[in-house]
Amino acid sequence: MKLDPKAVRHLAPEDWRVLTGVELGSKGHEVVPTYLIEKNSRLRGGARGVHRSISNLARIGLIAKVKENKYDGYRLTYGGLDYLALHAHTQKNAIYSVGSRIGVGKESDIVMVADEHGVQKVLKIHRLGRISFRSVKTNRDYLKNKNAGAGWMYLSRLAAMKEFAFMTALRSEGFPVPEPIAQSRHTIVMTFIDSFPLRQISDVPDPASLYADLIAMILRLAKHGLIHGDFNEFNLLIKEEVEGTNGDGEEILKLVPILIDFPQMVSMDHENAEMYFDRDVNCIKTFFKRRFKFTSTQPGPFFKAAKKTLGQDGAKRLDAVALASGFTKKMLKDLEAAIKDKELHPENYEVSEDEDEKADDDDEEEEDGDEQDEGHHDQESQTPENSAQEKVGLQPEQDLDIEKLSIL
Ligand code: ADP
Ligand code: MG
Repeated sequence: MKLDPKAVRHLAPEDWRVLTGVELGSKGHEVVPTYLIEKNSRLRGGARGVHRSISNLARIGLIAKVKENKYDGYRLTYGGLDYLALHAHTQKNAIYSVGSRIGVGKESDIVMVADEHGVQKVLKIHRLGRISFRSVKTNRDYLKNKNAGAGWMYLSRLAAMKEFAFMTALRSEGFPVPEPIAQSRHTIVMTFIDSFPLRQISDVPDPASLYADLIAMILRLAKHGLIHGDFNEFNLLIKEEVEGTNGDGEEILKLVPILIDFPQMVSMDHENAEMYFDRDVNCIKTFFKRRFKFTSTQPGPFFKAAKKTLGQDGAKRLDAVALASGFTKKMLKDLEAAIKDKELHPENYEVSEDEDEKADDDDEEEEDGDEQDEGHHDQESQTPENSAQEKVGLQPEQDLDIEKLSIL
């Protein structure tokens, strides 16, 4: 599924009203009946105008017709929701232009954007709860019983809200995370980190020191009451910073890890906190062993010891952040259940929705294939390990094909 700035350009004011009418209606209805769209969009031209707009919007794929037993109606597509979010970001001057997609995951699309000054930023579009069309057809019972049907729009919005709240809180405590700029619906705008994802790095001068930095980050999060929950080579971006120069005038580079991807963060008080904590630690251990042939001489760190450091050195507890920023307990539970469900049943999420184009890199495999965790061997820019020093994943200068958005 791609963002299509061209479609954004051509939306007439009436179509816009009708689109927002569908969005409003979908808060209470999975399929919004046509009469409700008419009511919500309150077009002067009456029902005929609404019907014309409905068919315009359906033609460009912002809404889709759904035949139900009881009534026919429409639902917002991902494209429609993307459109609404993009519109909101441009209104708030967070985005002026949209560039190319630099990553596609099962959980999100990552798109390069820029503001009016040409400053590059990243738009993360959450795609949580997008159930594969195949699994809808073959697995109806499963879908009926699980929260899988809880609504992709709702779940994706929760993921974006939670991620934005944690990014803001972590940033304010000085953690190395991107700066969150804006959130609308299922999307977030944040600063672009010019970096290599750790997974693309084949070699580092001093693995022990990078390892120590990453373990220190896990422990620092714990002090603030948090476990990242997906602390691995996909969610760590490595920046090179010049630390100084040596006697020969050569630059001394320092590798600085930046942490991303926060919808699954959990509290140190979570009932499964120890499992999540150990999993994060082990991800790093396993990766360093496999990639850099590095094994720490130190055991641990261990959850029990980390838990004792909660709040130490004046560390502010951050685990209540989501609740403090408008989340209800139910919302957190729904989101957690959806993330867990996806971990347990990735097969139900593998193909795109019927109206979406099928990802053309579906069967692409990670080169070294071993021990890849599910849900992550899906980045659009796969890099063979031996060419890891090229910034294959992130090539904004060459790739960026900025389309000016002129909305409405
Ligand atoms: P997902 O939930 O789909 O895993 P992530 O937030 O982990 O989404 O982003 C997916 C990929 O996009 C990352 O592995 C990274 O390569 C790239 N990416 C995400 N955010 C940024 C950013 N702020 N700057 C640069 N690259 C980013
Ligand atoms: Mg990720």
